[in-house]
Amino acid sequence: MFDIFHIRKQFPILNTKVNGHPLIYLDNAATSQKPASVIETEKKYYEELNANVHRGIHSLSQLATTEMENARKKIQTFINAQHDYEIIFTRGTTEGINLLAYAISNSRLLKEGDEIIISHLEHHSNIVPWQMLCERTGAVLKVIPMDENGLLQLDFLEKNLSEKTKVASFNYVSNALGIVNPIKEMISMIRKNSGAFIIIDGAQAVPHFKIDVQELDCDFFVFSGHKMYAPTGTGILYGKEEILNSLQPFHGGGEMIETCSFAKTSYAALPFKFEAGTPNIAGNIALGAAVDFMNSVGIENIQTHENKLLASAQQKLLDIGNLKIYGEKAPRTGVVSFTLNSAGIASDAGMILDKLGIAVRTGHHCTQPIMDFYNIAGTIRASFAVYNTLEEIDIFAEGIVKAQRMLR
Ligand code: PMP
Repeated sequence: MFDIFHIRKQFPILNTKVNGHPLIYLDNAATSQKPASVIETEKKYYEELNANVHRGIHSLSQLATTEMENARKKIQTFINAQHDYEIIFTRGTTEGINLLAYAISNSRLLKEGDEIIISHLEHHSNIVPWQMLCERTGAVLKVIPMDENGLLQLDFLEKNLSEKTKVASFNYVSNALGIVNPIKEMISMIRKNSGAFIIIDGAQAVPHFKIDVQELDCDFFVFSGHKMYAPTGTGILYGKEEILNSLQPFHGGGEMIETCSFAKTSYAALPFKFEAGTPNIAGNIALGAAVDFMNSVGIENIQTHENKLLASAQQKLLDIGNLKIYGEKAPRTGVVSFTLNSAGIASDAGMILDKLGIAVRTGHHCTQPIMDFYNIAGTIRASFAVYNTLEEIDIFAEGIVKAQRMLR
């Protein structure tokens, strides 16, 4: 049974007061809070297990290795990858995308005039690495336009796919607007019309609903641990075995070699080929604990609860009026992003909410092209996690009324 009190009890930070008010944390799209089980796992590693992985024959090293490899298996099951060695530990979504951009150029897979296609709804971390790749190779970046409702124009995608398209990279859910893109439709369109690598940025999807990478049939799927109740500095790159094997590595160094000599170095098998250097062992093990936490609540329960929060927040804001919600009519998850008609800049409202103990994000959310499209500097973004309550949404709505009054 879904018990919100039991869930909230697991998050120590929710007892915190901010500016004299109980914390209402609605900045989950930036990073989620961490349950005690995740914090304890990280602590336990340093107190009882700390040793470097994969290299040691001593007991502690073997224990640490087993724990980290168990975490890899938990993540494999969590996203339904076929093999555990298709799960690469990274520092987060940003590193996953950069890893791919460099692995692709190191493999000499792009030539001048080839094309990379992304969408207008991307986070900067799914724009800039591709611009840099274009600079290195002479490839051309194409961008699927969005409309006023935040929906992507899929006819543009269909028309712009060809044998020249080598990479197609999109987010599943927009972090700025919470829009859930029709990626299944997009993936089948891309498969039909090109041989492009299909990369999904799942940073804002994984915390909110079930992911099955085999059913999606994407080539790569990247996400961050810290948005799904795990520590910062953790993340995952999933890739299909055959494609990962065909790519050159990104970072070179320890852990990723099979043999190393000055004459020739050969690379280790998956996943180690893409995991140079000492990993974030404690964080990776704690990422496994975050998966356990999400499974213990049930991903469908998380989704149902968060949908109620989103529906309530949206309705309350519409009832208040004199504001604009971006992507109001689009399918969304976890996020409501809006501006106040009366007020100057979004950060003014953010500061008023902060005085009430309510944490929201204001600004461009690392998606400046979206803000440029709407001709605004930024939005107020409230984003939800499993521990938020309908009562918190009520207090948040009262805070918005107050902000409107003060900023009139
Ligand atoms: N993509 C999306 C959709 C995101 O929401 C974020 C984080 N805001 C990122 C990429 C980048 O993630 P990270 O900063 O954890 O690397």
